[in-house]
Amino acid sequence: TPVIGVLALQGDVREHVRALESAGAEAVTVRRPEELARVDGLVLPGGESTTMWKLAAAFDLLEPMRERVRAGLPAYGSCAGMVMLADKILDGVDGQETVGGIDMVVRRNAFGRQVASFEADLEIRGVSGEPFRGVFIRAPWVESVGAGVEVLAQIHHPEDASRIVAVRQGNLLATSFHPELTGDDRVHRYFVELVRAA
Ligand code: GLN
Repeated sequence: TPVIGVLALQGDVREHVRALESAGAEAVTVRRPEELARVDGLVLPGGESTTMWKLAAAFDLLEPMRERVRAGLPAYGSCAGMVMLADKILDGVDGQETVGGIDMVVRRNAFGRQVASFEADLEIRGVSGEPFRGVFIRAPWVESVGAGVEVLAQIHHPEDASRIVAVRQGNLLATSFHPELTGDDRVHRYFVELVRAA
């Protein structure tokens, strides 16, 4: 059974722990470098990326997370977690840093001007069955991706361009939405399989 850590500094940690357990993983919380060193995969939860960044730096986890991700640790970020996995962000606060790893530009709070929170049915590449109910809460979108990034889902807006809301690059996965809030564990199963294969 893969041991998957959930970064537990801020955000919807419990919901990810529950979803990972339902998807067949052993879930543990990560607050210290020693805990990070023991996991086979890492989830960066939804929450607030500015706070998560500051706490990660204060808890001496930012650089260790970068190192492990660079070394191939599978990681999955939802919403604020997606911001954390982006190589570049737009509309961050002054000096806001990320763990990075995915060659993409992510815009924080991007859907805000249209509507702050909403739900939408999504087709996610690699997730079979009925459409996936995406829950978006002050969500980021992916503004652009590099050549090595696979787009897994897009959202279509009637009066605007299509926006990328799920991506994968190697062992790294990110979604603008919150599968951990829906009780549908298919995205977490996708990630657990990725961790098993790594
Ligand atoms: N707006 C938040 C951020 O930039 C993300 C919101 C969320 O995770 N639901 O970090």
